[in-house]
Amino acid sequence: MSKTQGTISVQTENIFPIIKKFLYSDHEIFLRELVSNAVDACQKSKILEKTGEIAIPESYLVRIAVDKSAKTITISDNGIGMTAEEIEKYITQIAFSGAAEFVNKYQDAQIIGHFGLGFYSAFMVSSKVEIRSLSRKHGSTAVRWECDGSPEFYMEAAEKDGAGTDIILHIGEDSEEFLDENRLEEILMKYCRFMPVLIQFGFEKDWIDDPNGTTDENGKVKRIETESPKYINQTTPIWIKKPSELQDEDYSKFYRELYPMSFEEPLFHIHINIDFPFNLTGILFFPKIKYGIENQRNKIALYSNQVFITDEVKNILPDFLTLLHGVIDSPDIPLNVSRSYLQEDANVKKISQHITKKVADKLTSMFNQNREDFEMKWNDIQIFIQYGMLTDEKFYEKAAGFYLYEDETGKKFTLEELKTATEALQKDKSGDLVLLYTNDKAAHHAEIEKATERSYKVLEMSTPLSSHLVSHLEMKNQHVRFKRIDADIIDRLIEKEEGNHLALTEDEQNNLKTKLESIAADGRLRVQFAGMSSDEIPFTITQNEFMRRMKEQSAMGGNSFYGQLPESYDLVVNGNHPLIAKLKEGEPGSEEKIKQAIDLALLSKGMLKGEGLTRFIQRSIQLLA
Ligand code: ADP
Repeated sequence: MSKTQGTISVQTENIFPIIKKFLYSDHEIFLRELVSNAVDACQKSKILEKTGEIAIPESYLVRIAVDKSAKTITISDNGIGMTAEEIEKYITQIAFSGAAEFVNKYQDAQIIGHFGLGFYSAFMVSSKVEIRSLSRKHGSTAVRWECDGSPEFYMEAAEKDGAGTDIILHIGEDSEEFLDENRLEEILMKYCRFMPVLIQFGFEKDWIDDPNGTTDENGKVKRIETESPKYINQTTPIWIKKPSELQDEDYSKFYRELYPMSFEEPLFHIHINIDFPFNLTGILFFPKIKYGIENQRNKIALYSNQVFITDEVKNILPDFLTLLHGVIDSPDIPLNVSRSYLQEDANVKKISQHITKKVADKLTSMFNQNREDFEMKWNDIQIFIQYGMLTDEKFYEKAAGFYLYEDETGKKFTLEELKTATEALQKDKSGDLVLLYTNDKAAHHAEIEKATERSYKVLEMSTPLSSHLVSHLEMKNQHVRFKRIDADIIDRLIEKEEGNHLALTEDEQNNLKTKLESIAADGRLRVQFAGMSSDEIPFTITQNEFMRRMKEQSAMGGNSFYGQLPESYDLVVNGNHPLIAKLKEGEPGSEEKIKQAIDLALLSKGMLKGEGLTRFIQRSIQLLA
């Protein structure tokens, strides 16, 4: 074959500078693109093996080699190879026009994993690219192609041992970082670790018994150092295997490979494997989810046919599922669309619904099959489930059946079980079931004690999402209301028909209110009266359920109007307490006693601080004298 010289047929002559600058931070993907091509070439050859058209190799291998002094990186494969005509067609014309189209379309868009630039991504890092190829088809001759980044290229006949393709990148001055073996290995591990054809890069040193059997002075066989090729990938990662072929240990081992820095074992996993109506495989792990949700995200890696694409899956999966770990692999997720478009894609929608359903079904079956074990895991998965219930309607519907409520003794109930256990005592006069909860058992010790004296249950709901969740649950369950145990005095938390009578007229109440406010001298407190039994405590501080919830929710990103309101509390006065009668009658010393009793109420809430606390302690000591 004579030497041919030609011009790459495109209108935009300046495509190379664009490719070079393209996606600056992501230059490393050239390696994924070229290794993928090499792997594809081997797969294509495998397919043709039965046709008799090609010479069949012993095994397929992709090799990456660096020559620091020549400043080259070579990606070699023993796959199908290309004839001169094929290079002309696939590289010069099709690949190039593909690259031109790609750059024109996507140079400003944020594309997932920057996929699809293909062969021409080589020019992001190279000043010159060479191809040496020998087709596997019988009777082919080898060919060499070269292009320095200008639209001209050269092609000539060449020598090559063995069929396949070498892509030789002459690394440009500004890309010499890629000549570093560690950097290359890191990139290979990121993108190529699970590709389906064996990939070799560098060598591994090892010590073995001398095969010649030479011995040392003690007669022991000498140890010698050997070098063996280092393979960087597992060609059949476990997610593409059948779950029935795998043991629990296989999953744990895989988890440790994915997250070598993680100290914790995952709680359980889900293996997804479907090929209709879309293709999706993967393994999702449930980590123990602690309260810091944010730093748990982005641990799911997205693959397309075993090629790593990205670990940012937030536009592909519903938000709550991004808390899981693992791998999903689907060739049906479009990669050449902008990130914002992804969520709209019909396949992506189906895939994310499928995964949501799988996750909910797994939790349901765990709950049904081994409730005890499910309860043991509850604390670690609760926040994940809450998040899903709050943000995903479909998930809510399923999760409502296994969501667990824990009472003050630690016993866990589903909503239905809880309704049965509480309806006799906790229905109020309008027939609503009032469920009491605490977010802090220690802080609410006194209130919980009062509630349990009446055989009420007090649920523990203390995650950062609990406040949102109770509002959501009320919306979903008519006639169920939640009240935090400090939202009111015990008599009024669950209002019954009969109540204690308040023995104060309205005028008396108004008078006393002014007096009490000036004695309390605390701007946060709003006085209100309640008719309680005369032997109950005279003062209780409560915090209105609705206002508190709104404030908490706005702190987590909700309505900011409530977030700006100052903290306010109710000072609930037991109008039937003898102290109040004494104040009403102006008995000497009664004001001092009242001050002391209000301070006690504040103290029990941890609200007595500063000067107020100092004075309270002085007064208390004087009382002891
Ligand atoms: P894509 O891989 O998406 O088709 P590329 O630009 O990466 O686009 O490659 C264009 C074409 O060049 C490939 O479809 C393939 O036919 C051919 N090709 C690229 N690299 C190789 C290779 N190592 N061996 C054989 N053919 C190759």
